[in-house]
Amino acid sequence: MAAVVIIEDDQRIRELVARVLADKGYEVEGAANALDGLQKIVQAAPDVVVLDMGLPDLDGAELLKMIRAITDVPVVVATARSEDRDVIRTLDAGADDYLVKPFSVEQLEARLRAVLRRSAAESHVPQIVVGDIRIDPNARVATLSDEPLQLSPKEFDLLVYLAERIGTVVSKRQLMAEVWRQPYGGSEKTVDVHISWLRKKLGESAAESRYLETVYGVGIKLVDPS
Ligand code: CA
Repeated sequence: MAAVVIIEDDQRIRELVARVLADKGYEVEGAANALDGLQKIVQAAPDVVVLDMGLPDLDGAELLKMIRAITDVPVVVATARSEDRDVIRTLDAGADDYLVKPFSVEQLEARLRAVLRRSAAESHVPQIVVGDIRIDPNARVATLSDEPLQLSPKEFDLLVYLAERIGTVVSKRQLMAEVWRQPYGGSEKTVDVHISWLRKKLGESAAESRYLETVYGVGIKLVDPS
């Protein structure tokens, strides 16, 4: 299982995240400040790092630069700052992904999986399970209650993108940019059509949704109905 170093000065968050991730089978090391964190990264050689941007001894962005000087380990930044400029600065400094606080441990774990999958040179990639849906991103196979789902490539990409952000509302524009790679132009109707196809294959409708929950005027999220 993947090893995680979490650098977070808020003891409550650090211990909660460490406990939940450990329950899910991750090997977790916690650090309460930047220098301890750097030491843990060197000693534990983790598969992924979770980094709080507001640390007592060093700015998270500075620590990120120091981490990047010694290792390519994927870093997921946890930030209370939601300004676009700060996010861009963070990603420019070498973060692989970010989460804006407050976030759920489930959201964090979904990001960790996504980052680990991207970085995985190794063939063993965790599957994504949401209720009765099981997704193997590497094999590009998805099942519903152990029955194979016959998904088109875009439907599959859409499902994976939403599953990696379980419980988080994603806008159609974001889906256009990230799944269809069309940040400008491109019709949001395309997204609507694929969502309705995906719904059908998941055995639901917009009126009676189970997994795909529309948030009117905002977007859509995948939820675990159980
Ligand atoms: Ca902090």
